[in-house]
Amino acid sequence: MRMRKLPWAEAYIAQAPVVHHEPQREQGKWKQLLNCTSLHVELGCGKGDYLITMSKRSEDGWIGVEKDINVAAIAARKYMRDEQASTQVRLIHGDAQQICDWFAEGEIDVLHLNFSDPWPKKKAHTKRLSHAAFIAAYRRVVHERGEIQMKTDNAQLFEFSILQFQEGGWYLHDISVDFRRTPHEEDAITEYEQRFLSLHQPIYRAVWRKYPYVNSDKKKR
Ligand code: SAH
Repeated sequence: MRMRKLPWAEAYIAQAPVVHHEPQREQGKWKQLLNCTSLHVELGCGKGDYLITMSKRSEDGWIGVEKDINVAAIAARKYMRDEQASTQVRLIHGDAQQICDWFAEGEIDVLHLNFSDPWPKKKAHTKRLSHAAFIAAYRRVVHERGEIQMKTDNAQLFEFSILQFQEGGWYLHDISVDFRRTPHEEDAITEYEQRFLSLHQPIYRAVWRKYPYVNSDKKKR
């Protein structure tokens, strides 16, 4: 998401309590900080709608990562203005490439990739958040029983991601090429998703796990 420059963005980010400025210092300690047993991270969280909504529904911790300062500032402001917002939320203004500096091995329970930039040109594929290099980093920071949930409107990015995760050794746990064909109230609609739904475009969704496991195993987490 590229946005026009907001004159207030930098100063806002600098003082908003929800923004964590030294995420590397929290490595291995996020669950303590957010007082939670399950940690979700959304890479490329945009204006924050998804994580602000989802974090209200449980006691889980949520961290949004956004590299565009203007977009991150809007997310921070949206969170700060929401009187019902969960206290178990932080935002990181930074590049997902640094994920291994911020999170310890196995620290993340659920990683979310919502409507990531498709980078259509072949030369730019390394920038895709589902490129092999990113997937290798996720393997490190996602818990043994953790998972990655991805949604996109982009068929090319979806195909690419399926193959990259397959090569990276992940187990495809769930897949849909029209996720909103049936109601899924458990999963909030993101800002981009709303736009594509208004255009009647199908939403692709996949869930990968590090290892396959049956539902009853969930209790043991
Ligand atoms: N998840 C939101 C926004 C999708 S647009 C939604 O569904 O509505 C994709 C967002 O990812 C943009 O805001 C872009 O700035 C951000 N982004 C892209 N590459 C990133 C990276 N390497 N690290 C962090 N954020 C990134």
